[in-house]
Amino acid sequence: MEGGNATLFVAPSGDSTLIDTGTGGTQFRDADRIMEAAKDAGLTHLDNLITTHWHHDHFGGMPDVASRIPVRNFIDHGPNTQVRNAIADDFIRKTYPSLYAEAKHTVVKAGDTIPMRGLDWRIVSAAGETIKAPLPGAGSPNPTCATFTPQPISDDDENPQSVGSVITFGKFRMAHLGDLTWNKEFALMCPINRIGVLDLWIVSHHGLELSSSPQLVDAIRPRVAIMNDGPSKGGPPATMKTLFASPGLENLWEIHFSILSGQEYTVPGLFIANNLDDPITAMPIEPGSEPPRSMGMPVHDGKAYYIKVSAQADGTFTVTNQRNMFSKTYGARFRPEGN
Ligand SMILES: [Zn+2]
Repeated sequence: MEGGNATLFVAPSGDSTLIDTGTGGTQFRDADRIMEAAKDAGLTHLDNLITTHWHHDHFGGMPDVASRIPVRNFIDHGPNTQVRNAIADDFIRKTYPSLYAEAKHTVVKAGDTIPMRGLDWRIVSAAGETIKAPLPGAGSPNPTCATFTPQPISDDDENPQSVGSVITFGKFRMAHLGDLTWNKEFALMCPINRIGVLDLWIVSHHGLELSSSPQLVDAIRPRVAIMNDGPSKGGPPATMKTLFASPGLENLWEIHFSILSGQEYTVPGLFIANNLDDPITAMPIEPGSEPPRSMGMPVHDGKAYYIKVSAQADGTFTVTNQRNMFSKTYGARFRPEGN
């Protein structure tokens, strides 16, 4: 999604949930990309569509997606909280109701569950609230809480409203927290780790520095992280250092090469799914900076590749980069009691 988000889940029962629909792009760009994954999974409908929050990089492709595949349940955190955002307000007032008119519309809150036969799907954050009680098997004290430094926050922002999910399939557990911000991570993860240790984490907020606090990353100890970054969105040195320093992280995979990492902070290209329309042929060693909006952002409208994860109930999972078909299997992890 080139710095937006769309993550598709399919249970062995066939039940499906899509989290977010990308920015949309021109000519059904993101809907086509999502449909390629839906086709790979053999889906004829989506049981649930969770929109994490009302930012365009998360709901922009929704009309296109809904025109391609029937959606049975539209899930969100409730009203738009941004003071001024005509695109979101217009969408919620005019377009959205017409999409869910013949389906179900569900507003979730922290602590709710989402129906997905064969999986345990818990909502751990929504509408600015986070769960108070730990999930089963979680709840250990989080020692990094003592060193937390809050970030300055904006009241006019949808990111902290993000619908966050923790998904458990047998012994496999993963999380997708949308664009949940640094300070909300503290609310969720301190003083106790309410979501436990994860096998897989979809890196929050495209890998921006506004999220990925050590209080979250060190406590969930993901074996594998996948970053839904863009060519100049996400992957700056601070975030990369936190991820690489995370105890237990075996690999970071990325949706895009990001010039914000430079050679110094990036992962081998083998683990990265997408380049640009005008490909980067040599990554500078020094991390780059985000180009000013006036210069235009680098674009990737051409062929796009996904990263696919196949998980087994025993905790084993395989990650595949669709661009180069590089694939790696992570064996089931020994879990100390209580994890
Ligand atoms: Zn976003």
